[in-house]
Amino acid sequence: MVVILKDGVKESSLMEIIEYLDAYNVSVSVTKGTHTTILGLVGDTSSVDQDAIRAFSVVEDVKRIQEPYKAANKKFHPEPTVVDIGGIKIGGGNFQVIAGPCSVESEEQIIEVAQAVKASGATLMRGGAFKPRTSPYAFQGLRAGGIDLLLEAKARTGMPIVTEIMSAAHLPFFDEVDVIQVGARNMQNFELLKMLGKQDKPILLKRGLANTIEEWLMSAEYIMAGGNKNVILCERGIRTFETATRNTLDLSAVTVLKEKTHLPVIVDPSHATGIVQYVEPLSIAAVAAGADGLIIEVHNNPQKALCDGPQSLTPAQFDTTMKKILKMRKFMETEMMN
Ligand code: PEP
Ligand code: MN
Repeated sequence: MVVILKDGVKESSLMEIIEYLDAYNVSVSVTKGTHTTILGLVGDTSSVDQDAIRAFSVVEDVKRIQEPYKAANKKFHPEPTVVDIGGIKIGGGNFQVIAGPCSVESEEQIIEVAQAVKASGATLMRGGAFKPRTSPYAFQGLRAGGIDLLLEAKARTGMPIVTEIMSAAHLPFFDEVDVIQVGARNMQNFELLKMLGKQDKPILLKRGLANTIEEWLMSAEYIMAGGNKNVILCERGIRTFETATRNTLDLSAVTVLKEKTHLPVIVDPSHATGIVQYVEPLSIAAVAAGADGLIIEVHNNPQKALCDGPQSLTPAQFDTTMKKILKMRKFMETEMMN
């Protein structure tokens, strides 16, 4: 971090700010030019409060050189993190597809979809039980009962389950869930993230509706700082001026994240586009961009889905899409990754 001081700073003010910075356990070097004085901070600056430094009247500007996240930073952990979900690995060259309905609606629905997506090659099953809906009058999910049905589908198919948490108060219902999803709307629910950091189940952390990559990584940092290193990032599209799709899929985030973090990165083309016919091409594009996996919505009767029908593939469509995804993945592994 670099602190630029205003012209003609007095020695007493300089000493005051240096004394303040010393408390952070970083080494401070002073460079005095004819007009400007610059302080260089070296060491672990992740806990240094930039705004507090700016509050000193002699400070002209503060520039961060090192990223504010540490546990999630590839610089400090160059090896890719491999998240192990009951033997199913994701990251570090391991690619997985998570599929299932937006919401768990009935025993028949979840079991039919689970069996179908497994037969097509999905290795993890998704299904919302606690649903974050824009309208309080829309279907809110079967809640704890939905998790019971997911567990039933897991017992029948052997597929681990991924489902969303909306409140730390619901954690007891997630005892047997394999991967806890934090949805876009809760990416910056810091108290929830802290609670999830204190337990050891893998977390699927979706990108917020309008959050930067750095903010997203800071949310991962909240979980990791608590001790839980099993975080999977999920790009699910961001809000832009574009209205042709539900969100704008930021595939460049996959590339950026591969450079900045060791955590696995997956893509959700369903929520990113909101339109069924765009799911397949963007799934293939995500694989080509280097994603470690995909999460795709599949419904046995999209027209009657209680949530997100227009973006849900039928099991037959998923089967075709899955074949292309696996083909692209194979191409990437054999032709592009060496
Ligand atoms: C979901 O996966 O069902 C969901 C609500 O996604 P997002 O948080 O990305 O909107
Ligand atoms: Mn959905």
